[in-house]
Amino acid sequence: MPGFAEDLFDLSGQVALVTGASSGLGWRMAEVLAAQGAKVVVGARRTERLAELVKAIEAGGGTARAVHLDVTDRASIRAAFDEAEMVFGPVAILINNAGIAAQQRVLEQSAETWRSVLETNLDAVWYCAQEGARRMVAADVEGSIINISSLLGLGVSRTLSAYAVAKAGVVQLTRAMALELADKGVRVNAIAPGYLLTDINRGYFESPAGQRMIEKIPMKRIGDPCDLDGTVLLLAGRASRFMTGAVLVIDGGQGLPVD
Ligand code: NAD
Repeated sequence: MPGFAEDLFDLSGQVALVTGASSGLGWRMAEVLAAQGAKVVVGARRTERLAELVKAIEAGGGTARAVHLDVTDRASIRAAFDEAEMVFGPVAILINNAGIAAQQRVLEQSAETWRSVLETNLDAVWYCAQEGARRMVAADVEGSIINISSLLGLGVSRTLSAYAVAKAGVVQLTRAMALELADKGVRVNAIAPGYLLTDINRGYFESPAGQRMIEKIPMKRIGDPCDLDGTVLLLAGRASRFMTGAVLVIDGGQGLPVD
């Protein structure tokens, strides 16, 4: 069957919105969706970086639009969706990728840090997912919402309690939304990556402690943002049309029980 896989993963004509696309995984996922034909709206606060991303996507023959987006601000989220709809039409693929990390031990944790991690990594995922889902249902489009959780949504690590709690919340939000939206044409799935080298963790993984951590990963390397390419394409389009509420762990074996 020539062209079967190409057709299965083809996203031509689909409109996608990626949050936190100004670096790391979001940047890469936007490029990958555009390469498969999606019209991609890239949202973040650093619009000058988004302009570079749009230029790179267009240079590769893709279609993209940059929108200013602060995922902790519901008015900003509504404005980003409004602009996406005005320029390309209803969003069918939403990737809730924006996130922050803050390392503090429980005994020293400040309420401010706790709240800011929960606000960006969990509350904002709900804000964006609800806004996106409402619009997908209203426009009667087959929708795919992909939430970026983490291996730390399934386990814990010292100094990252707020992050782990937020990412575990993303797992449960994914399942709960998937259940309620399954008969409305909207699928909701999550990706739980292990360590992938990006701005969020580069400082740590370049340190001796970080290098020792990499040695413990069964595949003996840290991931690269492109290690999520296949998973993103699987979840975005009709290749996964009977999948909802799934949490796909992509971690080089990092989360496997130690023998
Ligand atoms: P990153 O720091 O390069 O990307 C995070 C992006 O989110 C940045 O562009 C940042 O500006 C944006 N962002 C933060 N707050 C925002 C806000 N209020 N509004 C809009 N954008 C905002 O790091 P990354 O590794 O690419 O992280 C992407 C996602 O992947 C995050 O949710 C992160 O928790 C998750 N994740 C990363 C790893 C990893 O090892 N890199 C592992 C598991 C999960």
